[in-house]
Amino acid sequence: MPDAPSAVQAFVGLGANLGDAQAAVQRSLQALDRLPQTRLAARSSLYRSAPVDAGGPDYVNAVAELRTALPPEALLAELQRLEQAEGRERPYRNAPRTLDLDLLLYGDAQIATPALTVPHPRMAARAFVLLPLAEIAPQRVTPGQLRAVADQAIQRI
Ligand code: ATP
Ligand code: CA
Ligand code: CA
Repeated sequence: MPDAPSAVQAFVGLGANLGDAQAAVQRSLQALDRLPQTRLAARSSLYRSAPVDAGGPDYVNAVAELRTALPPEALLAELQRLEQAEGRERPYRNAPRTLDLDLLLYGDAQIATPALTVPHPRMAARAFVLLPLAEIAPQRVTPGQLRAVADQAIQRI
């Protein structure tokens, strides 16, 4: 089916570090492709990164490019539904998680509501977002941003 004329390019960051994190990220990439009015247009490789500001096992990370006709709030609700389906719990800030789906970019939209800030406010500080994003959308990441996170431990799986 062709994309709706209103389809927007959105980027989603995936992360997991509990259970079979690699399987959860793979499953979730497929699930993103099945969201209503949405298709998976591109996906990065999987990456392994050390937790930032937290303990626990290493993370498996990836970034997905979506084409979606869902408004941003509805897309966030779908992402949270997928997190729930993977058994996400939030016992404390930065706790280990079975699945985290962050809406990184939604077209060129700037959004600041209590539930949703886009672009994701912490993405520029995170190698586990910038490296996979640069892999599938190099024009969305600057060399300076990559240099600023070059000390963070991350490897392509
Ligand atoms: P961080 O936001 O630093 O990556 P986190 O992913 O661990 O931390 P969560 O517990 O998953 O944080 O999310 C907390 C809240 O963040 C959610 O309830 C959601 O409403 C809000 N939120 C705001 N902006 C976004 C966004 N761009 N993507 C996902 N959630 C967002
Ligand atoms: Ca997050
Ligand atoms: Ca999140």
